[in-house]
Amino acid sequence: MPEPQHTPETAFDPEDEYRPEPEPEPAPPAWLDGSLRIGIHTSIAGSFRNALEAARRLGCNALQIFSASPRMWAGGVARIPDADAQAFRARRKELRLGPLVIHANYLINLAAAQPMLRTRSIQAFHDELVRGVALGADFLVVHPGSRGDATTEQAIASIADAVKQAAKRVRLGTLRILIENTAGMGTAVGWRLEEVAEIVARLQDLGAGACLDTAHLFAAGYDIRSETGLAETFAKIDGTIGLEYVPVFHVNDSKVPLGGRVDRHEHIGKGKIGAEAFRRILRHPRLGAGSPHGLPGRAFLAETPIDRPGDDRRNVAKLWELAGLKEQAPRAEKNFSMLTAGMMKSRKKLKRGRRKPRLERMKRARKAQRRG
Ligand SMILES: [Zn+2]
Ligand SMILES: [Zn+2]
Repeated sequence: MPEPQHTPETAFDPEDEYRPEPEPEPAPPAWLDGSLRIGIHTSIAGSFRNALEAARRLGCNALQIFSASPRMWAGGVARIPDADAQAFRARRKELRLGPLVIHANYLINLAAAQPMLRTRSIQAFHDELVRGVALGADFLVVHPGSRGDATTEQAIASIADAVKQAAKRVRLGTLRILIENTAGMGTAVGWRLEEVAEIVARLQDLGAGACLDTAHLFAAGYDIRSETGLAETFAKIDGTIGLEYVPVFHVNDSKVPLGGRVDRHEHIGKGKIGAEAFRRILRHPRLGAGSPHGLPGRAFLAETPIDRPGDDRRNVAKLWELAGLKEQAPRAEKNFSMLTAGMMKSRKKLKRGRRKPRLERMKRARKAQRRG
């Protein structure tokens, strides 16, 4: 809820010599100093502040978080207690982490035509915006959604309308909404850059932009793996969204080949995109964070899997290395990982529990085969 503005009733006397001091321009945040921003999606398990500490310990200078459980409608609180939000903002400032990107809940489908799901999605996205403002986030990334039986044109109109409804009566301040491109699985909208551009254009009044995911680009058929493919993709971005509207990139390698239309992230350099391509992307002057070719504060955030403890730290380190900034990178904490050995054990137990019924099913099937 925005605080009511108190405007004192003072009569202005033109004879008065007193001139109020102009409001000081707020100093730009540290992350807009022209340095490249690299980070990873960090966990808010326990508290929001834990995500900041994880980012610091992993050697990041930027981060992405969920502001609630990403796969539940009622995943935690709709509103964040003031004291928590304040402590979070203060600690983030201390650590000079930025930008802070929030990834919206996966259940939100802004393209939904079914009234109940649509209402729920708009409400949930509204809550995302409110939490984003409370946490002092710079960007809120959301997927366009799935169109179901609707045409892409219809879906794009629904999405833009849903975002506008959700943002009504929210004072966004410096929070910007970013529409993320998709891999194009099923009826997902936004795998073609034209579609993302169309949504962003309709949300111009809100100052919306786009977040481009390298794995999604590749799976959607944009060959960012080669030099010419990257140049062609730039031309496409220039002709649609405009690179200056893309302050955030999700950097993920892809498990699926070019044009595979499936969303499967892989460790940086270990997938079908490959290390060379990421080196080219991270060092490209047009994708940099410095003027005149780049965009101040531009961020590259990994959403790579954590299969083994340390994968998170290694992917962040890899990004700094490929960007040619290994020396300037914030120091990571030796051996730190968001995935601990203990968590790994319980994860294995879970998997074993799931495997057993499958084995039994296979045995039964084999028996039936022998009988038949
Ligand atoms: Zn992404
Ligand atoms: Zn993805």
